[in-house]
Amino acid sequence: MISSVFDVAIVGAGIVGAACADECVREGMTVVVIESDIVGGGATAAGMGHIVVMDDSEAQFALTSYSQSLWRELAPDLPGDVEYEACGTIWVAADEEEMEEVRRKQAFYSERNVPVEVLDADALPDAEPKLRNGLAGGLRVPGDAVIYPPAAARFLLERARARGAVLRSGVPVFELTDDGARLRDGAFIASGVTINATGSWAPSLTPGIDVRKRKGHLVITDRYPGFLRHQLVELGYLKSAHSLTSDSVAFNVQPRRTGQLLIGSSRQFGSEDSKVDAAILGRMLARAEEYIPELGPLSAIRTWTGFRAATPDKLPLIGPSPGHSRQYLATGHEGLGITTSLGTARLLVDQLLGRPSQIPIGPFLPARSMQEAIHA
Ligand SMILES: Cc1cc2nc3c(=O)[nH]c(=O)nc-3n(C[C@H](O)[C@H](O)[C@H](O)COP(=O)(O)OP(=O)(O)OC[C@H]3O[C@@H](n4cnc5c(N)ncnc54)[C@H](O)[C@@H]3O)c2cc1C
Repeated sequence: MISSVFDVAIVGAGIVGAACADECVREGMTVVVIESDIVGGGATAAGMGHIVVMDDSEAQFALTSYSQSLWRELAPDLPGDVEYEACGTIWVAADEEEMEEVRRKQAFYSERNVPVEVLDADALPDAEPKLRNGLAGGLRVPGDAVIYPPAAARFLLERARARGAVLRSGVPVFELTDDGARLRDGAFIASGVTINATGSWAPSLTPGIDVRKRKGHLVITDRYPGFLRHQLVELGYLKSAHSLTSDSVAFNVQPRRTGQLLIGSSRQFGSEDSKVDAAILGRMLARAEEYIPELGPLSAIRTWTGFRAATPDKLPLIGPSPGHSRQYLATGHEGLGITTSLGTARLLVDQLLGRPSQIPIGPFLPARSMQEAIHA
């Protein structure tokens, strides 16, 4: 039974699917978004919402800085509940070895016109007084920001709907074909192309792609307005984010507009269970207290977990699914999907329209994973 026909059927209404819907309708396409649950209720509801420029690779830098500029352009249109705050990041260096990393990062960002400021051991406490004494310094990146991701996903999707996009929620897609999406309730939605934007669930609709679940824990406190000024991340975070084998925790704390503090974060492969793991949580909080001793007595009001969609090369899959020119992927964003959602949507729509992109698209094309498999 064919119930409807659209230019684009987007599966998944997390921040990536919502951004794709917004961008597709802006370009005049007819769009349906199919969501099995609620809008922004997957990893998007679990994430920290740090809009951050990262320098793991040139490709990652290009996508994060491009996306951050799109968030900055969008900021005046965002409703209050998105809580966009241009609070900046401080990458905190515990010792001289990490100060070396501060200087490397400073050079990398400065060469690419991202404003940064090196803070020495004296300047760090002036910038962020709650950090413990004795830290070596840090790197302030004033252009980084913070948002409340589920509200951002809702905003993007509602804007797309106001321009004609259709939302089908409460029913999962169980199969993608070159002609559209088959729903679990038996309906078939015909479309020119499909976009699999189901985050860490993507392999169930596109078998064979190497996207794995990477579990993370977060804690949110009661309201303590003015406690912190910046998103704070330890430089050791980079080591923990890179480890593909072991469980890791790193100090990563965010001040919310509500006055609450969002405390992260952990990374675990091989745990598909969404239950809070008390041992990991304990390690994560102990790590945070090492950097901010005054966190200890604060009240935590909620703890939760979420799953990042991780790829082996830590870059998302944006483009046609190998062997299926009409089935697109927009997944694999790991811990950066809030940041990179807007850039992802642009890169995807550029491909649909056959127009050049602002940044090189090659590193994100899903075909690379097939090439890796062939050469492995
Ligand atoms: C602890 C943690 C901290 C993070 N912090 C940050 C951060 O600070 N900054 C940042 O940029 N990123 C961060 N991230 C990453 C970010 O949250 C994700 O990359 C992003 O939310 C991915 O969005 P998505 O739309 O791809 O996936 P999701 O939000 O998971 O959305 C996928 C949607 O698809 C739906 N779906 C699944 N299967 C089907 C189906 N068969 N049919 C229909 N619908 C389906 C799901 O219900 C879901 O709503 C963090 C993630 C975690 C876990």
